[in-house]
Amino acid sequence: MNRSRRKFLKAVAAVTAMSSQLKDLQTSSHAQQARKKSIGKIKTIETFTQGPVSIVRVRTDSGAEGCGQIAPFNADISALVLHRQIAPHVLGKDPADIDSIVDRCIEANYKFPWSYVCRALAGVDTALWELRGKAENKSVCELLGGKPRPIAVYGSSMSRDIKPADEADRLARLKDTRGFRAFKIRIGKVCGHDQDQWPGRTEALVPAVRKAIGDDVSLLVDANSCYTPAKAIEVGKMLEDYSVRHFEEPCPYWELEWTAQVAAALNVPVAGGEQDNNLAQWRRMIRMHAVDIVQPDICYVGGLTRALRVAAMAADAKLPCVPHSANVSMVSVFTLHTLGAIPNAGPFMEFSIEPTDWTTQLYEPALNVQDGKVAIPDGPGWGVTVNPKWLAKAERGVSEHR
Ligand SMILES: [Mg+2]
Repeated sequence: MNRSRRKFLKAVAAVTAMSSQLKDLQTSSHAQQARKKSIGKIKTIETFTQGPVSIVRVRTDSGAEGCGQIAPFNADISALVLHRQIAPHVLGKDPADIDSIVDRCIEANYKFPWSYVCRALAGVDTALWELRGKAENKSVCELLGGKPRPIAVYGSSMSRDIKPADEADRLARLKDTRGFRAFKIRIGKVCGHDQDQWPGRTEALVPAVRKAIGDDVSLLVDANSCYTPAKAIEVGKMLEDYSVRHFEEPCPYWELEWTAQVAAALNVPVAGGEQDNNLAQWRRMIRMHAVDIVQPDICYVGGLTRALRVAAMAADAKLPCVPHSANVSMVSVFTLHTLGAIPNAGPFMEFSIEPTDWTTQLYEPALNVQDGKVAIPDGPGWGVTVNPKWLAKAERGVSEHR
């Protein structure tokens, strides 16, 4: 390990409380939960699907309820998986037993590992967390031991088609109007086999953006599985010349050894893990130090319960956790509450700067960036209300305990 990398890890350790703190918070929260009076057994699980997103509402036989969300995109398929393969293991259970419900759903689907099962499970898990928060009159952030407050965000560009000069201009404008103190841009090509979106784009983009946003704003980049190790290291050295502080998914994400090789060779911290939803794979990734910054996606990994386990593994290894939250659906709400509570939260949360019509009417109040920060929604549960008009237009599915 070179000196810069040791320095980086030491700096991380300095701001990272021990994972035992997180475990203590979870344990005390569970103990508090056990002392509460029963909120009944899970009676119905409803899905409301519209466009790329599906909201989940869980109700108990005593009338308690909570809302969550399935991972966006192909959510109609995930909703079907929820009713067919998740609901039978959840209905009739005590909603306080979130950990065991989640584990049972994974094990019962061991022939159908990960993707759609985890996407669907995330909907139930996040609804159960809200149900619990409402029952205790606390926000999820408070259930986890945190306190609702503004969280610093990085403006995350999702575009590779934008020209370097146009990207630089729009980020400089957002810095001035919304106060962002960090931005992430896209380099290379998605699963690009070392190719760029067009020749020379990355080499033009990074200096143009750095010049436009100034040296006092953090610059992050995402390669979305583009490079072989040799090319990633070459690109990474260029990134270091422009003080980039986060090099995300440099290699095909499933090639852990490649990513570890890049992380060991570079001073710029390597980030990754957004697609990873197998906790054993996460353990391997963290043990081999494939990444310096861990990025579970709360909806892809199967919900908050499993994301917290990844965060705890990262804290054990003294690594910061910056969950992937690439759209302003409920996943950004879940991520705000999480970052408000975990001891190893990174300095900025991902916040998409791309307008999306499928998220604008989904819930209220909307999340807004002010002075580069977004407030954790206050109030019981997730602190937001799914828009009744949106629900009325959505396709409803229901599973019921009989
Ligand atoms: Mg990414």
